Amino acid sequence: MARKSRAERARQAAEFRRGLLRWYRRHGRDLPWRRTRDPYHIVVSEFMLQQTQVSRVEAYYHRFLERYPTISALAAAPPAAVRESWDGLGYYRRATNLHRLAQAVVDQHAGVLPADPVKLEQLPGVGRYTAGAVACFAYERVAATVDTNVARVIRRAFHPRQPDKPISRRLWATALEILPRNGKRAWEVNQALMELGALVCTARLAKCGECPVRAACRTGRNVTLSEAKGT
Ligand code: SF4
Repeated sequence: MARKSRAERARQAAEFRRGLLRWYRRHGRDLPWRRTRDPYHIVVSEFMLQQTQVSRVEAYYHRFLERYPTISALAAAPPAAVRESWDGLGYYRRATNLHRLAQAVVDQHAGVLPADPVKLEQLPGVGRYTAGAVACFAYERVAATVDTNVARVIRRAFHPRQPDKPISRRLWATALEILPRNGKRAWEVNQALMELGALVCTARLAKCGECPVRAACRTGRNVTLSEAKGT
């Protein structure tokens, strides 16, 4: 029985992944941090994107990197200057943490962000999500990246009875099961999951009628309307 259910889960994950990638290759947005594998650029984008919309982050991202083109330049900057560069983006604790992270990377890692998620998690302001994001998006490691958007997609698609919060170990385990073992493809699947959560399976509205993974989604395949609200 247990084996059958594992096989069933694997089939669902494979079908979900196929639909997701096909859609992402056509509809994924061309965002600046998707065009780079520079770990410093990736970590700046990840700190900025926490609780902030993509459209707002883009301008700040370019300006910040012009002012601090390397992690060493950021580490050497006075705290007040870093704080000023963050003005208008909000949640200023992120700027303080990013600055402290840059100093720790220069002091402890010769100015190079580690690729190992365990080491990344020891840096200031880095939790499990950000560690996975840097490992995968910069170094193409097979690491899950479960933020609130991705957690929502996985919950609706695979575990519709799981509560919204906190992000459970089960959701993390499923996120890892969905990932291919190849780092480049894992990068793509993680980006695609985020994109689906941002554009189709949103917090406000699950647009199941237009969703590319509906056939593999435990919520979507049970709705008969073209849209499922508040799932
Ligand atoms: S089918 Fe609906 S609930 Fe499932 S992932 Fe797509 S939008 Fe979300």
